Amino acid sequence: MTISVLQLEEARRALEAPLFADVAGDAQVSFEFFPPKTEKMEETLWEAVKTLEPLGPRFVSVTYGAGGSTRERTHATVARIQRETSLAAAAHLTCVEATREEIDQVAEEYWTAGVRHIVALRGDPPTLGARFVPHPGGYENAAALVAGLRKLHPFEISVAAYPECHPDSFDSVADIDNLKRKLDAGANRAITQFFFSPEAYFRFRDRVAAAGITAEIVPGILPVSNVAQTRKFAAMCGAEIPDWMGRLFEGLDDHPAARQLVAATVAAEMCRRLYAGNVRGFHFYTLNRAELSFAICHLLGIRPKADAEAAAA
Ligand SMILES: Cc1cc2nc3c(=O)[nH]c(=O)nc-3n(C[C@H](O)[C@H](O)[C@H](O)COP(=O)(O)OP(=O)(O)OC[C@H]3O[C@@H](n4cnc5c(N)ncnc54)[C@H](O)[C@@H]3O)c2cc1C
Repeated sequence: MTISVLQLEEARRALEAPLFADVAGDAQVSFEFFPPKTEKMEETLWEAVKTLEPLGPRFVSVTYGAGGSTRERTHATVARIQRETSLAAAAHLTCVEATREEIDQVAEEYWTAGVRHIVALRGDPPTLGARFVPHPGGYENAAALVAGLRKLHPFEISVAAYPECHPDSFDSVADIDNLKRKLDAGANRAITQFFFSPEAYFRFRDRVAAAGITAEIVPGILPVSNVAQTRKFAAMCGAEIPDWMGRLFEGLDDHPAARQLVAATVAAEMCRRLYAGNVRGFHFYTLNRAELSFAICHLLGIRPKADAEAAAA
């Protein structure tokens, strides 16, 4: 049997790939959910929250629908998490189609409900593809929102960052300038848009550091099990879906369990590489499903807190 150069290269690549054995479990994680629309979705969400809670995330966050369309549902979900679990809940808040007073009022309601963490965003217009126009009397962008929140209460504030550049940005320098404005206005950390190339994240982290930014840039991890849906999200936010991703999921439409396994493998491998590049914080876009994020955390050595404490005793 002859061995081709390609086979040798693959053998070397596989041997050099880091394994998951004995990853220290020293990463901090957070989980993002969206507010449920129906009772059934509420049940699914709650199961996901309960499954992920024992992993001791530093916070869990709940998104805010376009144009404030989920204002009540986001508030109800965040307030319930804050009230009924041991988790620190964070509320996403956007500037879209609301006056400063209205947004400040929403933030006040969160403070009263015991919520101390806001993910402050500009948001997108409710019409897909339309250009963002600030509301007259509203916050003009996320940096202005951060400054406004800082005046209200000592919230912990996270903002968005874009390893592959925000589509509205002139270039990556302008994009990082904008990130710097948000952090200078008082944000504590940035969470990135999803991406599928660890290299893209590492290059971004270098550019951010070169711009004098010292705040943590937490990678946002989207475990993909539905490529068509991910393509739709990616088209809206300028993220790249690599060609190999489409090919990898080919033929799996009628095999949901296999799709989940492939999805977990892809996301876990990416997290492992990020971890090897010294990343110790991960934010998971859970899409209200716990299992993929739970499995990836497990591979990263993160165990339910009660189990870990029992093992140490
Ligand atoms: C972690 C995360 C969570 C998210 N959660 C939600 C959510 O819950 N609900 C939701 O609707 N959306 C959410 N989004 C999407 C986000 O709202 C969109 O990406 C939106 O288009 C930009 O929001 P931003 O906060 O990054 O905006 P900003 O940082 O204000 O700006 C985005 C871009 O606009 C340009 N820009 C802004 N101000 C100026 C200026 N003064 N001059 C020149 N250019 C400027 C910059 O190029 C900048 O990169 C989330 C994104 C991320 C990464």
